[in-house]
Amino acid sequence: MDPMKNILVAAALSLTLGFPSGGGGHESAKGPSPDEALSWLQSGNRRFLAGTPLSTNLSLERRLDTAKAGQRPFATVLGCSDSRAPLESIFHVGVGDLFAVRVAGNVADTDEIGTVEYGVEHLGTPLLVVLGHSSCGAVTAVVKGAKVEGSIPALVSKIVPAVARAKKASTPDEAALIQASIRENVWQSISEILRRSPLTVELAKEGKLRIVGALYRIDTGEIEWMGNHPDEAKLLAAEGKEGKKEGHGGIPWLASLALAGVLFVWLTACFYLFVSDRRLLSRLKFRGRFFLALAGFAVAAAMMALVAVHQAASIGETGSGLAFLISPLSVLLLFAGIYTYSVRASLHRYIKEMREKWMEDSAANS
Ligand SMILES: [Zn+2]
Repeated sequence: MDPMKNILVAAALSLTLGFPSGGGGHESAKGPSPDEALSWLQSGNRRFLAGTPLSTNLSLERRLDTAKAGQRPFATVLGCSDSRAPLESIFHVGVGDLFAVRVAGNVADTDEIGTVEYGVEHLGTPLLVVLGHSSCGAVTAVVKGAKVEGSIPALVSKIVPAVARAKKASTPDEAALIQASIRENVWQSISEILRRSPLTVELAKEGKLRIVGALYRIDTGEIEWMGNHPDEAKLLAAEGKEGKKEGHGGIPWLASLALAGVLFVWLTACFYLFVSDRRLLSRLKFRGRFFLALAGFAVAAAMMALVAVHQAASIGETGSGLAFLISPLSVLLLFAGIYTYSVRASLHRYIKEMREKWMEDSAANS
């Protein structure tokens, strides 16, 4: 293609989409809608395919403008680090256009999700794209069960569920399995973001954000738009609760519930013993009461230790965590006082009885 033809193609594409060949959302004050942002990426990729010279948004003017006015990217893109899939180039955009996250295998773990949240919430991009690509080395390594070292096993472990799902769909050969896994891995990252980011879910529900999957072919340069996640409605309905569960979930959550249950039963028993039936309490004698108190404290202490460990693991939830610990703790202290008094009184009576018995015995003997 000669240069003149390139420019004509670029101009034609720009005209049909009504937006300058440089791409980017700085032209309108309001910013693009999710679908507009998507069409900008699509037209950018068409300019890239047409071999259009570099984006006009790489100009000195654009650089100075974005440095001064701040960034207003129109899309957040989570892509792979593969050198053959450079995001700004394949979307034919420049400085200040994309909020880009690149990580091997385009996986979505805490840091990537945090970066995505910064893009969609703080910078307010109306579009989030998770972009996989053909011949992805990270996905291929998992499919082939390649031996990986250092911190790579932890990274590729995020891809394992995607490959497992692709295998379940029964693909005939390894090449087909790799392709299916790359596709599943895009869905995997989207569902990971939606399952762990209530913030992203909220924006999507409000219609302020669209989340789409896409595949880049490193040989043809084309992008296959996969659209929204097939289970998006279900994922949105779950409201990113797994992200919240990281602070409150699993065994510690059960421990909190068990602690509340144990305290309730224990305090009810205490109330009954102290207020309604003091005779039963006195029949328990010193040792009986001592062990009753000890057992109660031991169970409550174990439960509270579990809750404490759980709270220590979830930073940022300290406010509610402290409240949760302080309320049972104050009740425990109150009853510790009552028990101490009761045990002390029993001990006194026990010694008094013993002394009287001994005096009676010695009186009888003399
Ligand atoms: Zn890759």
